[in-house]
Amino acid sequence: MNFDLTEDQILIRDMIQEFAQNEIKPHAKALEKSHQFPEELLKKLADLGILGMSIPSDYGGIKTDTLSLMITLEEISRALPSLSVIISVHSSLFSQAILQFGTDQQKKKYLPKAAIGEILGAFALTEPGAGSDIQGLNTKAEKKGDMYILNGTKAWVTTGSNALAYILFAVTQDHQNKNKLSAFIVDKDSPGLRICHIEEKMGLNASITAEIVLEDCRIPAENLLGQEGRGASIALHCLDGSRIGIAAQSVGLSQRALDEAVKYAKQRKAFGKTINNFQAIQFMIADMATFIESARLLTYRASILLDKGGPISKEASMAKLYASEAANKTVYLALQIHGGYGYSKEFVIEQLYRDARVLTLYEGTSEIQRLVISRHLLRE
Ligand SMILES: Cc1cc2nc3c(=O)[nH]c(=O)nc-3n(C[C@H](O)[C@H](O)[C@H](O)COP(=O)(O)OP(=O)(O)OC[C@H]3O[C@@H](n4cnc5c(N)ncnc54)[C@H](O)[C@@H]3O)c2cc1C
Repeated sequence: MNFDLTEDQILIRDMIQEFAQNEIKPHAKALEKSHQFPEELLKKLADLGILGMSIPSDYGGIKTDTLSLMITLEEISRALPSLSVIISVHSSLFSQAILQFGTDQQKKKYLPKAAIGEILGAFALTEPGAGSDIQGLNTKAEKKGDMYILNGTKAWVTTGSNALAYILFAVTQDHQNKNKLSAFIVDKDSPGLRICHIEEKMGLNASITAEIVLEDCRIPAENLLGQEGRGASIALHCLDGSRIGIAAQSVGLSQRALDEAVKYAKQRKAFGKTINNFQAIQFMIADMATFIESARLLTYRASILLDKGGPISKEASMAKLYASEAANKTVYLALQIHGGYGYSKEFVIEQLYRDARVLTLYEGTSEIQRLVISRHLLRE
C-alpha cells in the first residue's frame, strides 16, 4: 500500500495547516475556556468547502477521497480537537448516512444545505440506558398514517443543540411484533422535540453535547432512512467510516502534544541545561513520535481501504483503538515533560490531556473495538 500523499492531498493539508495556524489557534483557548460553539470558524470552513468534503458535487459538495478528509480532521484537531469532532460527525455520520441510505428526495433536501454548512448534522444513537449495547435502545417510533411518532430520550448527542437535523435511531415493530431498530432523519424543529440538557464535560468544551427528549415527536413517514428495521446495520456501517475520523482526531491531538513537549523541552532548564539533554526526556519523545506514526499509518490504511470499497470494520476499529489509546499515552508523557507547569491551565497540554480522555470512549469504547477486531479474526 502506498502511503505517499498525492499533490492534491498535500495542497489540502497545507491549506488546512495555514487555516489552523491563522484562524483556529488564535481563538482556540478562548473558545474552550468559555465553552463556546465555534460557529464563526465553521462558517469559514464551510466557505472553503470543508463541510462538503464527503458530499458529491451533484449535491453541492467537493467530494474528496477519504484520506483527504482524514488529513483535514487531523490538522484541525491539532489546533482544536473540539472542532474536529464536530466536522467528523457532520461529514462521516450525518452526511454519509444520507448519501448512502437516503432516497433521492432526502439527498436533495439535506445534502446541498449540509455541504455549505447551512445545516449542521448530528447522530443520535446513544440513550441514557444504552450506549455500547444498541439492542438495548428504548426510544420508540410508531407509524400512524403518514407520520411516525417518536418517544424517548437521546443522550450525549455531539452538536446536539446546534445541529438542525439528526440521524436518529428508534425501535419499530415488524409484522411479527418483533422490535427492530430503524433510522430516521429528524429535523430539530419537529414538534415534540426538545433539547433538555447540555452535558458538563471534562473536556472538548467547544463541542456542545446535548440530551434530547422526544415527546410524541411527529415526523413525516418519508423521513425514514433506509428500510424499516435496518437501523442497526445503518448505524454500524456509518460508525465504521466515522471511527477513522476519531482515529484522525486522535493523531492530530497527539501530534500537538508532541509539538508542545518538544518546544517545552528545548526551553526548560534544569541542573544547568535544557531538559531535552536528558535521556529520560529524549526517550519519552521517541515513544510519543513512534505512537503517533503507527497511529497515523493505521488511520491512512483504513482510509485508503474504505475508498477501495473493501469491508473495513476491522481496520477502522484497529485505527480507532490504537490511535485513541496512543493519544492518551502521548498526552500523559507530554504533560510529564512539562513538569508542574503541565498541570497549569496556562499551557495547552492541560487541555489536551482532558480532551484525549474521551477518545477511547465515544464512537465505541476500546473494549467494543477489541470485540469487533477479535470477532473478525476468529471468523476469518
Ligand atoms: C463527549 C461525548 C460525545 C458523544 N457523542 C455522541 C454522539 O454524537 N452520538 C451518539 O449516539 N453517542 C455519542 N456519545 C456516546 C458514546 O458513543 C457512548 O458513551 C459510548 O458508546 C459508550 O456507551 P456508554 O457510555 O453507555 O457506556 P456502556 O456501554 O455502559 O459501557 C460501560 C463500560 O462497559 C464496557 N462494556 C460494555 N459492553 C461491553 C462488552 N460487551 N464487553 C466488554 N466491555 C463492555 C464499556 O467498554 C465501558 O467500559 C458521546 C459520548 C461522549 C462522552
